[in-house]
Amino acid sequence: MEHYQVIVVGGGFSGTMAAIAAARDGAKVLLIEKSGALGGAAVLNHVLPFMEYHFFRENGEVVPLNRGLLKEFVDRLRENNGILANDSTFNEEYLKVALDDMTEKYGVDVLFHTTLIGANRNGDKLTSIEVFNIEGKSTLTADLFIDATGDAMLTLLSGEPFKIGREPDEKCQPMTLCFRLGKVDVDKFYSEDFATVNEIWKAKLANGDFINPRENILSFIHTTDDVLHLNSTRVNLSPVSAKERSDAEKIARKQMIELTNFLREYAPSCKNATLLSSATEIGVRESRMIDGVYTLTGEDITSCRKFEDAIAAGNYGVDIHSPDGTGTLRIHIPKGEFYTIPYRCLLPKGLTNMLVVGRCISSTHEAQSAYRVMTILASVGEGAGIAAAIALNDGVAVQNVDREKLRKAIDGRDLVEGYPLS
Ligand SMILES: Cc1cc2nc3c(=O)[nH]c(=O)nc-3n(C[C@H](O)[C@H](O)[C@H](O)COP(=O)(O)OP(=O)(O)OC[C@H]3O[C@@H](n4cnc5c(N)ncnc54)[C@H](O)[C@@H]3O)c2cc1C
Repeated sequence: MEHYQVIVVGGGFSGTMAAIAAARDGAKVLLIEKSGALGGAAVLNHVLPFMEYHFFRENGEVVPLNRGLLKEFVDRLRENNGILANDSTFNEEYLKVALDDMTEKYGVDVLFHTTLIGANRNGDKLTSIEVFNIEGKSTLTADLFIDATGDAMLTLLSGEPFKIGREPDEKCQPMTLCFRLGKVDVDKFYSEDFATVNEIWKAKLANGDFINPRENILSFIHTTDDVLHLNSTRVNLSPVSAKERSDAEKIARKQMIELTNFLREYAPSCKNATLLSSATEIGVRESRMIDGVYTLTGEDITSCRKFEDAIAAGNYGVDIHSPDGTGTLRIHIPKGEFYTIPYRCLLPKGLTNMLVVGRCISSTHEAQSAYRVMTILASVGEGAGIAAAIALNDGVAVQNVDREKLRKAIDGRDLVEGYPLS
């Protein structure tokens, strides 16, 4: 296999945008993905919609906060009726195609059905990775690697340190199997049934009637009128135990049937509902996070801290689905405010040619609950791709990327609406 300048492992939002951004700046990039499509959780876990990422300017104007490649992506979805007018509710079939088109446009080589299974390092450098696909096992080499696997698999395999979940007990936010019901009168569900069924749900939960510990019903509209999207199963097992992650799939499917039957019985708008689909894999909100050069904290998020080495921004607040079962903690970011994410959170301590992007960057449990949404991670990925290209051009370790150059490059790409990050 030919040598690449950058290999990105994982084709979720963060990895795909990192790959595109590095290729746009001239790097020869390979993106490997274990499934058959780009999009990560949006595709594999049925995750929908883009959580709120709009921003209120002082003059009252409302604009998307995250821009850059995300804007190009949303524009593509809009052209194909792949997203509703709210710029948030997307159809993942168009999403997959838009990401294929963008990787093709910017010249990223993509290998689907290719799973990372090993990493080889020499001191502070990753020299190659081992992958498995239809051709068997092979070794891939690159100058720089990006871990975009969500679960920090490249970090794990390369022997770099990481943390798991919250301190001190390492419990993570729960896993959720998203699913969809068809033949629902969705307008009626929200206007007439929603409040009532939530009250009934709470009473029955208190009575011990459910295996699902979630405190209420979390649902969203879909691009198809009569489809209701449910993000409402909840399994509090360990996402980093192979056995528990497997058990979680089965428990969540039982919860799906439980919730479907409940809605059919108690919500008139759902009386004819059909179970359309569940995600290919249960969704993991949180698992490993690298122990990087800087650890982003909940206070950095809630105080809307602006870092000198910011590579992305976000305005989605703390959103912790209880690692213990029932309850969700929300702390909102004030309108017209945002926080930034420093480049140092992407830097491992012991490797000079690896960056980490996505939900597994260096942070606490509290901070991760905020920046983990797809729009923000798209910007984090784009920032990483820009940094990777600078590191390669200048022949420096990722830790030594010239911060002034990085800031200018990031601001030049218009990642944050109307506001340079510096
Ligand atoms: C149930 C649930 C609901 C959520 N709700 C929302 C929401 O409403 N809105 C929102 O914006 N965000 C939501 N999120 C958060 C968001 O979807 C994720 O945090 C985000 O998509 C993570 O992006 P990522 O790029 O880090 O990882 P992922 O999207 O998980 O991508 C990682 C990719 O790496 C690949 N991969 C993993 N291991 C390997 C390997 N060994 N070899 C090759 N490839 C590998 C995977 O197949 C995957 O494609 C939700 C998450 C969950 C789980």
